[in-house]
Amino acid sequence: MTQHTPILIVGAGQAGAMAAAALRGLGYDGRLVMAGGERHAPYERPPLSKSVLADVGEDGKIGVHPPSFYADRDIELRLGACVTVLDAARHVAHLADGSAIGYDRCLLATGGNARVLPALPPGTPHVHYLRSLDDAARLRDAMQCAGELVVIGGGFLGLETASTAAGMGLKVTLVESAQRLLARALPLELGTWLAGRVQAQGVTLRLGCGIVHCDVQGDAVRMQLDDGASLRAPLVVVAIGLTPEVALAAGAGLALHPQNGGIQVDARCRTSSEGVYAAGDCCSQYQPLFGTEVRLESWQSANEQARIAAASMLDVDAEPAALPWFWTDQFGCNVQMLGAAHPEIRYAWRGGAAHDAATPKFMLLGTRQGRLSHAIAVNAGGDLRQLRTLVGQDVSSHLARLCDGALPLRQAVRDCQAQADSNITL
Ligand SMILES: Cc1cc2nc3c(=O)[nH]c(=O)nc-3n(C[C@H](O)[C@H](O)[C@H](O)COP(=O)(O)OP(=O)(O)OC[C@H]3O[C@@H](n4cnc5c(N)ncnc54)[C@H](O)[C@@H]3O)c2cc1C
Repeated sequence: MTQHTPILIVGAGQAGAMAAAALRGLGYDGRLVMAGGERHAPYERPPLSKSVLADVGEDGKIGVHPPSFYADRDIELRLGACVTVLDAARHVAHLADGSAIGYDRCLLATGGNARVLPALPPGTPHVHYLRSLDDAARLRDAMQCAGELVVIGGGFLGLETASTAAGMGLKVTLVESAQRLLARALPLELGTWLAGRVQAQGVTLRLGCGIVHCDVQGDAVRMQLDDGASLRAPLVVVAIGLTPEVALAAGAGLALHPQNGGIQVDARCRTSSEGVYAAGDCCSQYQPLFGTEVRLESWQSANEQARIAAASMLDVDAEPAALPWFWTDQFGCNVQMLGAAHPEIRYAWRGGAAHDAATPKFMLLGTRQGRLSHAIAVNAGGDLRQLRTLVGQDVSSHLARLCDGALPLRQAVRDCQAQADSNITL
């Protein structure tokens, strides 16, 4: 690799910023350029639906790295610099301002965009989408003036937004087209528990309701639901998912996954085009635990892929990716998940709690053919960490003990681990 032709990172978000740090950490001392479409230095998105939405004072606290990080490490951070064309054959990226950057290797860390509800596209008065810090600031301002909010979408983002708004004293209604919350990510029993929790916290839930028509009437949006009811609200948040930002990749002819739309990468985050890598929400990768290729939209996955992509760009080995882990904070619950959901998983509870408990604390252990595949902790992140070594292992003969809330989890894990080790020895 020449010292003068840079490594180019397109996208100054979570994965881009972590990849830049990893490249320097691995000793790469050549030119390193980051082109980011936003005007902010890389920041963490998870607080946008939580602390940042509630408190303007949080805006300055969410940088992925401290402000001086980039200059200190000689990382050329170009903000408000949108790459419009990637010429992968010539190794050149063209920017919206007419300039071009020749690169030796390029990482696409372009994230994604909020999925649009055609009936309420961005720009519709009183309607908000939430992906960026600017989106969060606009929504926060609007929430401070509105007494009422309708959230469309019962996924993580919609639920977190509803939770923050309810905490700020807004009257919140959440509309979800599926019959349950978080149907793909959570087992039915936890989705049902969460629905009870959401309602116990004063949010009106309308599950199994599609929106058939919307229009703006003066200072409010009117939504006609397919069960015949209609809602009127001065403020609406649409949170119906994410579409990966793959325009550059598509234009450059890179392979995209036919179903999830992500940029296909191998285990080392290499795309189908030599010299081009991808990481974060924009990319699709085979995940052994899921047994298929998936596009993970999570903070941890962005970090892990960034680390692996950086090593790959420098042709050095990297530790394999950590187990998938995800968290969400909503309605007084810090929910953490380790492993992967799958329709064949059966869940057993460790502990339990009423919907209106002040701080509910319990876990669900999901096994598939006896092996621990998915563990979910509600306000029990410390316990979840103890289970880490058991994921993928046969826990069938220890499941009852692992789920016995009267027994210390540490001891049950140790016994289970000891048996697994003795089986290996045999
Ligand atoms: C409100 C919110 C709450 C979240 N909460 C959680 C949570 O609780 N737990 C969790 O695990 N995950 C959460 N996430 C998800 C997590 O933040 C993302 O998975 C993570 O940010 C993905 O990082 P990324 O680098 O792939 O994308 P991003 O962080 O989105 O960065 C991509 C960047 O690329 C830029 N870009 C795109 N195209 C171009 C171009 N052509 N030229 C230049 N720049 C470009 C974009 O402007 C953007 O700045 C949340 C996300 C949001 C939005």
